[in-house]
Amino acid sequence: MRIAIIGAGFTGLSAAYYLQKDGHSVTIFEKDPHPGGLAIGFREKEWEWSLEKHYHHWFTNDKFILRLAKEIGHKVIVRRPKTSVYVDGKIYQFDSPLKVLLFPKLSIIDRLRMGFVISLLRYNPIWKPLEKINATKFLPKAMGQRGYKMIWEPLFKNKFGPYASDISLAWFWARIVKRTPSLAYPQGGFLEFANHIVKVIEKRGGKVYFNTDVVELSSNGKPSIKFKKIGNAQKAPELEIGNYDAIVVTLPSFLFFKIAPELPQDYKQKFAKLRGLGATNLMLRLRKPFFNDGTYWLNVCDETSPVMAIVEHTNFMDKKYYNNEHLLYLGNYLPADSKRFSLEKEEVLKLLDPFLQKINPNYRKSLIDYALFKVSFAQPVIPTNYSKMIPPFKTPLPNVYLSNIEQVYPWDRGTNYAVELGEEITDYILNEN
Ligand SMILES: Cc1cc2nc3c(=O)[nH]c(=O)nc-3n(C[C@H](O)[C@H](O)[C@H](O)COP(=O)(O)OP(=O)(O)OC[C@H]3O[C@@H](n4cnc5c(N)ncnc54)[C@H](O)[C@@H]3O)c2cc1C
Repeated sequence: MRIAIIGAGFTGLSAAYYLQKDGHSVTIFEKDPHPGGLAIGFREKEWEWSLEKHYHHWFTNDKFILRLAKEIGHKVIVRRPKTSVYVDGKIYQFDSPLKVLLFPKLSIIDRLRMGFVISLLRYNPIWKPLEKINATKFLPKAMGQRGYKMIWEPLFKNKFGPYASDISLAWFWARIVKRTPSLAYPQGGFLEFANHIVKVIEKRGGKVYFNTDVVELSSNGKPSIKFKKIGNAQKAPELEIGNYDAIVVTLPSFLFFKIAPELPQDYKQKFAKLRGLGATNLMLRLRKPFFNDGTYWLNVCDETSPVMAIVEHTNFMDKKYYNNEHLLYLGNYLPADSKRFSLEKEEVLKLLDPFLQKINPNYRKSLIDYALFKVSFAQPVIPTNYSKMIPPFKTPLPNVYLSNIEQVYPWDRGTNYAVELGEEITDYILNEN
């Protein structure tokens, strides 16, 4: 079959890779100039490696993406970086059962209670009954108000903003179960890895068009797409405009609805309840380290803080790949229509500066440059009984399939599950045809 894939994020790339393995001919259309989607990277001219616009790593049990890396011969680096929490103006390492037991901000009873609940969830293999339970109601009762309010409530509020009180225990379970103390990273960065997959696809005869915005798809007769080239994109041959046997859409559902006018109203209404948050990351390039204790990831457990997570990438990957610069992300999840989301980089730095000074009063002296990255759909909201809300692969349009971030469940979305989706949609199309 000749299959068009919309989007060169990790779902689109892996769908193309596996569909090709099954003997299909693939063409990918991507509106950005590079592959990677939400995990897209960029490279300053002084750097050897690329860096993601939004912090990214893998867990060592991310088997789908690690297998893909192995198959194409892409080297993966494994490290055990330090994860900490910021509570009442201080940083505490918080990345092992021992560190939790030694955490001085809670009584020993509260620590044991929290440890017990987390262990119970971690060793429970069954998630389905948990999706009926509201996490923000269950957890304070189970582990005690103090521990919940100090460590976990900020996580829910920071990650899901106005939707925090809707989140299901299945989502929290998945976060706990998946976490590994060691983390993995593709050599050269996620952009390098995505480019490597593109090369493999092209070598096998597949086509990948960048700067190509798909504005409409149709399934009337043969599935076809209409696209608009952005900037000075290479001209895609005329025959690429239509005449596919199938189309795989990897965009979030609301974007799929926009480009598919033939979709029936009741289908769109059924999935209109799906919600998502945007993400912003202010990335600082520093001459000196930001954290003085080598922390890679800091969860800011303080509702008054203007930043949710502070991630010093170069405490995970060696600074030598980035011209010895120290790279720091200041991340937030925000509704894309909020005032905070619309701020410019100077305004964001001004807002965050007093808080950053509390941790490192001298960081500004070593600031080389900074950039602000934003994506308007970054994190699907996972309320109770989410399994009933997920759109299926099959759409009402014949031979048009949907394979997207909102179908990742119960796991928290990630590039590993994007690759799993790519495998699953391949099997699905194979079985249907
Ligand atoms: C802040 C943040 C941190 C994250 N941290 C991690 C992490 O540590 N580890 C991890 O594994 N994952 C992480 N993720 C999640 C991960 O990035 C995503 O789950 C994954 O990249 C989703 O891939 P996808 O292909 O399904 O979707 P996307 O990456 O969204 O891909 C969709 C693609 O479609 C393109 N597109 C959209 N509209 C059109 C159109 N009309 N025409 C053509 N192309 C179009 C987009 O440009 C995009 O490239 C993080 C995400 C964010 C935002």
